[in-house]
Amino acid sequence: MTTLPRLNDSVRVLRGVGPGMQDGLKKLGIESVADLLFHLPLRYEDRSQKKAIGDCRPGDRVLIEGIIEHSAIVRHRRAMLVVTLSDGSGMLTLRFFNFHAAQARSLGRGVSLQAFGEIRGGGRGLEMIHPSYQRTVDGDEDEAQLTPIYPSTEGIRQASWMNLSNQALESLKQDKTELTELLPASLLKQHQLPGLKAALLTLHRPEVDSELANMNREDENFHHPARDRLVVEELLAHHLSMRRIQQQQQRRQALAFSQHSSLEENFLSQLPFQLTAAQARVVAEIQQDLGRTQPMMRLLQGDVGCGKTVVAALSALPVIAAGYQVAITAPTELLAEQHRDYFSQTLKPLGIETVWLSSRVTGKAREHALNAIASGAALVIGTHALMQKSVEFKQLGLVIIDEQHRFGVHQRLALREKGQAGGHWPHQLIMTATPIPRTLAMTAYAGLQISVIDELPPGRTAVTTVAIDQQRREQVIKRIAYACREGRQAYWVCTLIEESELLEAQAAEDTARQLLEELPDLNIGLVHGRLKPAEKSAIMDAFRSGEIKLLVATTVIEVGVDVPNASLMVIDNAERLGLSQLHQLRGRVGRGSEQSSCVLLFKPPLGETARARLDIMRATNDGFRIAEKDLELRGPGEVLGTRQTGALQFRLADLARDATLIQQVPQLAESLINDKQRSDALIARWLGNAERYAEA
Ligand code: ADP
Ligand code: MG
Repeated sequence: MTTLPRLNDSVRVLRGVGPGMQDGLKKLGIESVADLLFHLPLRYEDRSQKKAIGDCRPGDRVLIEGIIEHSAIVRHRRAMLVVTLSDGSGMLTLRFFNFHAAQARSLGRGVSLQAFGEIRGGGRGLEMIHPSYQRTVDGDEDEAQLTPIYPSTEGIRQASWMNLSNQALESLKQDKTELTELLPASLLKQHQLPGLKAALLTLHRPEVDSELANMNREDENFHHPARDRLVVEELLAHHLSMRRIQQQQQRRQALAFSQHSSLEENFLSQLPFQLTAAQARVVAEIQQDLGRTQPMMRLLQGDVGCGKTVVAALSALPVIAAGYQVAITAPTELLAEQHRDYFSQTLKPLGIETVWLSSRVTGKAREHALNAIASGAALVIGTHALMQKSVEFKQLGLVIIDEQHRFGVHQRLALREKGQAGGHWPHQLIMTATPIPRTLAMTAYAGLQISVIDELPPGRTAVTTVAIDQQRREQVIKRIAYACREGRQAYWVCTLIEESELLEAQAAEDTARQLLEELPDLNIGLVHGRLKPAEKSAIMDAFRSGEIKLLVATTVIEVGVDVPNASLMVIDNAERLGLSQLHQLRGRVGRGSEQSSCVLLFKPPLGETARARLDIMRATNDGFRIAEKDLELRGPGEVLGTRQTGALQFRLADLARDATLIQQVPQLAESLINDKQRSDALIARWLGNAERYAEA
């Protein structure tokens, strides 16, 4: 008798798993037998009812059974295996583009075969392209269950998933898996949810008449008690881990910094404007946090152009006044430089020294900067270069991270670790223009306090947005030229799908050349990521001063660039960009009092998602609505920029679809919060060691 595999056994113990398969599974995060149990089908196919070939119509997804009449390898451009199947009621052609020799041999004339797939009406009758199939032997029973279709990766076929999940389920049925029920019985009962084992069995092998038959996990309405039960468990695990991080946070010590009125008054008196009420409110919230001996973890959220920079400056003052250091980081060189210029200009009159560091600061200059940082320079501004190991602060009191969503979670963590000294942690302020939809904030940022600037400075006008076909490019150029001659200023943004600075720069160069040819009388500038910092600054300065009228740019201008007089923007290939990027770009205009416009140039035909994106851009300037739409179209990982880091990747839960469940989670968690063993087990089951990242 063979022993059944156990929960924590490696998948290697399973039949059919060699090193290659093990690697493939690992890519999907599947390492143990238990992981397989939690790898759930995407959808199900009803293969219980065979259909006579003569009754099949194009578009049907059906199971058919017949005898192979004819089988041949046909060579066109590629080899194709073509098999003709007959069941007496009709004939049907099966086509395979990828096949091995052994597969072709096994499908010889006279073989009895079941095939499942979508019927298509080919030129010479009905066909199935790449059906799933199996040879049938007399006496085979028809399947009494729905056939699960598992999410997969290259090289793992559905047949393998069946084989692997069969083995894992066998262990589960025999209770060999030690898979513990972690949800309290009372909770299950109250919400009429099945137990863990039952839920897993149902989801892997539903009965033919199960409601799951017509559901697809990607459907908006895919709800089923078995699935909901697992989703609730997963959400609870995330919630509990966030609560734990919060507790940890509260045990940490920070230095308290109190408000320094005269410095603040000096600063405010030299501003050319009054703070908006929203700015004043969030400054007060931040200063209150800074006055505590627990490290601030605050997310400052405010749409593009709402004036976060001045809030950052005001947050820095009390820390600097107390003789501690403040670090400000931005994700792009251009934005960091802009901060450098802004802060050095506004803070120098107050006697505050700033130090600049980016990866382009090298040699002597770098040494100089590092020394200044180590000996306590008040304000350190830079790119992610600030997060490198070689950078040592004397006494860091506050870390400000601008446009957070561009930073990886790891980087954010690194800077905070860096500042920890003598048992004190620096305060942290994260600023983002990506409004985090409520559902996301509740889950992803449970450990953060949130401040919102929900008001734009007075006098702003909404940007009028239009989407225009590339074919009318000439017209657009004429309109821009006209406006520029009238004294307005415009951006022409060149975009590419690939994140290649080089290609993007080339595209921008080409566009600039073309525009220069057509508009020789206009002063046109070009800025992209491959220019030297000094060149970039010179061009930005010339644009800011109004000398350059039309600025051709790559998406380097996406974040933070602030030239209030620019009131027109053309975005080339707008259909290629995601919503938040479009919104960020558009946020560069509409900053002055002039009525601003944005032209989204697109190349038809538009896909469904691209159309939805352009539509919402035309419909609204409200970053919040745009972000919610973005979440709907893309999913949370990408919205938060955490896709690569693995944080906030739910295995099952879906923030949009499971919004109702999410709302119940905090309350459900109350019964578990003090049960350390249970919550440890839940967190380990669903997050593994991801918890560390979530903390960043
Ligand atoms: P963002 O929140 O996108 O970082 P910025 O801080 O760059 O916005 O501010 C955008 C523009 O608004 C800047 O030109 C800034 O000087 C201006 N600004 C900020 N606050 C106010 C205010 N209260 N009144 C008028 N203009 C303001
Ligand atoms: Mg900004």
